[in-house]
Amino acid sequence: MSYTLPPLPYSFDALEPYIDAKTMEIHHDKHHNAYVTNLNKALESAPDLQKLSVEDLLTQLSKVPDAIRTAVRNNGGGHMNHSMFWKIMKKGGGGEPSGDVASAISSAFGSLADFKTKFAAAATTRFGSGWAWLLFRDGKLVIESTANQDNPIMDGGKAFFGLDVWEHAYYLKYQNKRPDYIEAFWNVINWAQVAENFAAAKK
Ligand code: MN
Repeated sequence: MSYTLPPLPYSFDALEPYIDAKTMEIHHDKHHNAYVTNLNKALESAPDLQKLSVEDLLTQLSKVPDAIRTAVRNNGGGHMNHSMFWKIMKKGGGGEPSGDVASAISSAFGSLADFKTKFAAAATTRFGSGWAWLLFRDGKLVIESTANQDNPIMDGGKAFFGLDVWEHAYYLKYQNKRPDYIEAFWNVINWAQVAENFAAAKK
């Protein structure tokens, strides 16, 4: 068995004007595709590990042979992170969350506006390539960021939404203006999917 690239759940131009079609095409068809290809390549020598879900693979990195551990971490992380990322965006997204996830955000961070400010700060200050996350850690809702393609699952966190702040996610349209991309992201966020992920992560 091998890992496969999930189709983008909307057209390349669905997130215009906030995220441009060319960026989406390269990001999904080239970057995410390469993570999947390279993950499969790394695991050619470890058939037992190929049977694991990518989540299980990344929670058990210590069991991955030394020779392929970095490749599995980077490419497995890339595969898991992007598979979630496409789904938490949609055409005509934005607005405000409702239900349990909305109250959890308000009680953890003060208000939705306060949450957005804190999340944007984590995303902006992540030096170099990485991700900003909203996750459960030790049962508490927290914001974190990681370098490269690391996912909080690698050290016990349960992330239910994340923002890609690699330059490949925004450079064509926003160049060096990462804060503008982060601000634009709130217009395409799929809060219904975030609520679903929240419910699953809370268990
Ligand atoms: Mn990316």
